[in-house]
Amino acid sequence: MEYQDLLELTKKYDSPLYVYYTDTIEYQYRRITEAFSDVNKLQINYAVKALSNINILKFFKKLDSGLDTVSIQEVRLGLEAGFDPKKIIYTPNGVSLEEIEEVATKGVQINIDNLSILELFGQKHPDIPVCIRINPHIMAGGNSKISVGHIDSKFGISIHQVPHILRVVENTGMTINGIHMHTGSDILDIDTFVRASEILFDVAKQFKNIDFIDFGSGFKVPYKDDDISTDIEQLGVQLSERFNQFCQEYGKEITLMFEPGKFLVSAAGYFLARVNVVKQTTSTVFAGIDSGFNHLIRPMMYDSYHKITNISNPEGRDRYYSVVGYICETDTFGSNRRISEISEGDILCFHNAGAYCFSMASNYNSRYRPAEVMIYKQEDFLIRKRETFDDILNNQQVFEF
Ligand SMILES: *Cc1c(COP(=O)(O)O)cnc(C)c1O
Repeated sequence: MEYQDLLELTKKYDSPLYVYYTDTIEYQYRRITEAFSDVNKLQINYAVKALSNINILKFFKKLDSGLDTVSIQEVRLGLEAGFDPKKIIYTPNGVSLEEIEEVATKGVQINIDNLSILELFGQKHPDIPVCIRINPHIMAGGNSKISVGHIDSKFGISIHQVPHILRVVENTGMTINGIHMHTGSDILDIDTFVRASEILFDVAKQFKNIDFIDFGSGFKVPYKDDDISTDIEQLGVQLSERFNQFCQEYGKEITLMFEPGKFLVSAAGYFLARVNVVKQTTSTVFAGIDSGFNHLIRPMMYDSYHKITNISNPEGRDRYYSVVGYICETDTFGSNRRISEISEGDILCFHNAGAYCFSMASNYNSRYRPAEVMIYKQEDFLIRKRETFDDILNNQQVFEF
């Protein structure tokens, strides 16, 4: 990625703009497949919710990835992108039995995360094998909003309820073909993974027809220059060997799955916005951009850090800024950031804007959602047009008073 190229893209497509580099996605994907190359059967299921543009999904298909989906609409996007339904896993939380049944008719792998639905589903469809999402009660993840595997979490069936699951299986005659966990995001400590995997192996042993174990995701990516991230290579070394040993004990080659979102797409994305106003107050200098939490909500929602660079003046003298949006609420992307001197009209580049950025964008303040551009083999492709006023009015029924 060159700042000059990004600057050219804002001239061509205007701002605000999301840009994704497929090379980076591929590099991250290969890092995992290489780290686990000792495992005979490996499947990486990209977590669609991180970045769901259909062209990104098609790129993952080209890489031979599977998909992890959380809604029937994500499933449909995946099928539309050409995925074999067998390579899609559906891991909803708190959705209706009807939606789960509809997804099942498409041939997609169902993953069930609560006992009552498991029982209902098993009674009605004993011939459709399902995976179960286990909550191993391990505290993991960067903060309480993104940590989902601890004791109070709404996700998964408690590890203490495995006897109950076994009873449901026996009573309904259903088949459990997979065991799954996903304990949170931004997990740094690979020992947490390894400990949680032991719990999953223990559960898997108790079922006769396991085809795969899905270790979820939550790999941490670096946000700052000196940040550490999940050591995927080391995890590969530790977990592959243990997994292969488990396959031996179990007496079958089972598939090892992961379902990363952030790890695969975070660093591949950049968000570009123009500075509308530079405002000196008594305490700080604000740089106000042509965007807000309607386009990138992570800093406001869970204090995530996005490095910000002034690509219009990368060699300028560093100064301190608070970068804020245009939304009529507190809308701070970063406070007290050291950035090379900003003038009105400059383009600021937000790093790590691939995951959970566009996919969380909204029309709040009746603004248009940004355009998206994909860089594939050094060429840029517009993969989503900037919205227009028609998109804002679309679906509104105009009432005549
Ligand atoms: C969100 C989610 C993921 C992806 O998490 P990342 O932190 O982006 O890797 C994986 N699996 C499930 C079930 C999820 O809900």
